[in-house]
Amino acid sequence: VELPIHDAVLARAAEFGDEPALVDGTDGTTLTYTQVDRFHRSIAAGLAEAGVRKGDVLALHSPNTVAFPLAFYAATRAGASVTTVHPLATPEEFAKQLTDSAARWIVTVSPLVDAARRAAELAGGVEEIFVCDSAPGHRSLADMLGSTEPEPVIDIDPAEDVAALPYSSGTTGSPKGVMLTHRQIATNLAQLEPAVPTGPGDRILAVLPFFHIYGLTALMNAPLRKGAAVVVLPRFDLETFLAAIENHRITGLYVAPPIVLALAKHPAVAQYDLSSLKYIISAAAPLDADLAAACSHRLGLPPVGQAYGMTELSPGTHVVPVRDMPTAPPGTVGKLIAGTEMRIVSLDDPDKDLGIGEAGELLIRGPQVMKGYLGRPDETAAMIDQDGWLRTGDVGYVDAGGWTFVVDRVKELIKYKGFQVAPAELEALLLTHPGIADAAVVGEYNDDNNEVPHAYVVRQQTALDLSRSEVLMYVAERVAPYKRVRMVTFIDAVPRAASGKILRRELRGRS
Ligand code: ATP
Ligand code: MG
Repeated sequence: VELPIHDAVLARAAEFGDEPALVDGTDGTTLTYTQVDRFHRSIAAGLAEAGVRKGDVLALHSPNTVAFPLAFYAATRAGASVTTVHPLATPEEFAKQLTDSAARWIVTVSPLVDAARRAAELAGGVEEIFVCDSAPGHRSLADMLGSTEPEPVIDIDPAEDVAALPYSSGTTGSPKGVMLTHRQIATNLAQLEPAVPTGPGDRILAVLPFFHIYGLTALMNAPLRKGAAVVVLPRFDLETFLAAIENHRITGLYVAPPIVLALAKHPAVAQYDLSSLKYIISAAAPLDADLAAACSHRLGLPPVGQAYGMTELSPGTHVVPVRDMPTAPPGTVGKLIAGTEMRIVSLDDPDKDLGIGEAGELLIRGPQVMKGYLGRPDETAAMIDQDGWLRTGDVGYVDAGGWTFVVDRVKELIKYKGFQVAPAELEALLLTHPGIADAAVVGEYNDDNNEVPHAYVVRQQTALDLSRSEVLMYVAERVAPYKRVRMVTFIDAVPRAASGKILRRELRGRS
């Protein structure tokens, strides 16, 4: 039988019973599987009583908390589609998402209630704002636990009904609402499952945001479906993160490249006992093989394994299975998962399929391809062709062993006098310099109207005398001439999206 997402995730909740499901990494508050199952049903009843109906859009606006999954599954059980909102969105950004998604309901947390109220005023159309905890004048999800209403029985069609409406990260344009059905999310969970064996006794640290599709899948749905414990942290702070790994004996980490960078380079890492860790998986942005190796070596772990995906793919298509991490070729994002097809086509001629080792755009077809962008039929059609192939906008290739490598995004490749330069490669090289703490490379036009690599560099506190010409030289000595960095600007921090991606548009032209 095919189940809606809340039933697919919580199918074995009764069996896991008193095992810990959700643990607050800050104060230790723990919810067992029995409680998660009971509580989300009571909240679903409370939401239905308040007027939430099938097909309504509910905006979930919260940092990672133990209540987040309860609110999510309660909302889908009540028949709503959940659009997750960045907890630090400005009221204007939040209002845009409310308007675009035609949201009728908001669930937020007390510290954010003013922002939510302001966003609702700006957008109009919101009937009620609930809070997970408590705030004067708002109904609370915590109070709904006492609801005596029967749980709503909603007829959900997993193949058609939208369970989640996450917005893409907005790295390359403005964020778009991505319609993912119950079936798409549940199918993708099942496709990814064999790669990462997990179950009761495993403890996963949820520091990447639940509101992004990567966190929603890897840190919420997948571990809860298997009986693992999810230890929840509201934001990334290196020392808190390391202390949580030590205190909660975390077994598996899902991270993004900036965290791998910190684990590889930051002195604080050596002060914590991280010996409970069995694997690290990185996704969401390019990860350099040498950086991954430095991180693993330092922690005494098998090489960091990658996964690849995008919001429009529910979200995954590739992963390095945990058992293959010791032997997979460095830098790979993994193998294509079951039930998914991939083509690699020429960037110059999209009708031409490429062979082993040849880099082109990745196209994907499979049951996890989104239903479409909400309210944007033209953009949906530009993304998915008649035959169901989705254009990822990413450049990559496959080796003879079937391992896929992602080079960078098509849009971010720098075209220097007919050659193509991948910013990710230069960023990785810059990070090997001991005086460089972080770096981003952007294609910009120089005085001769050539597009050239411009490096934005954050110096280590101990290396503030590092000069522009030293940076230029360091790269020039190590790459082919056409790849040389031609401009250098020192900055304080690299701007990144919550999912860890470099926001190059915020850097372009800043010098
Ligand atoms: P938008 O589409 O709104 O500009 P976005 O593409 O950044 O935003 P997401 O859906 O969060 O939004 O990110 C998907 C993208 O992340 C992929 O297209 C790819 O460029 C990148 N990505 C994901 N995993 C990896 C990986 N392992 N290696 C390299 N890049 C990755
Ligand atoms: Mg995208």
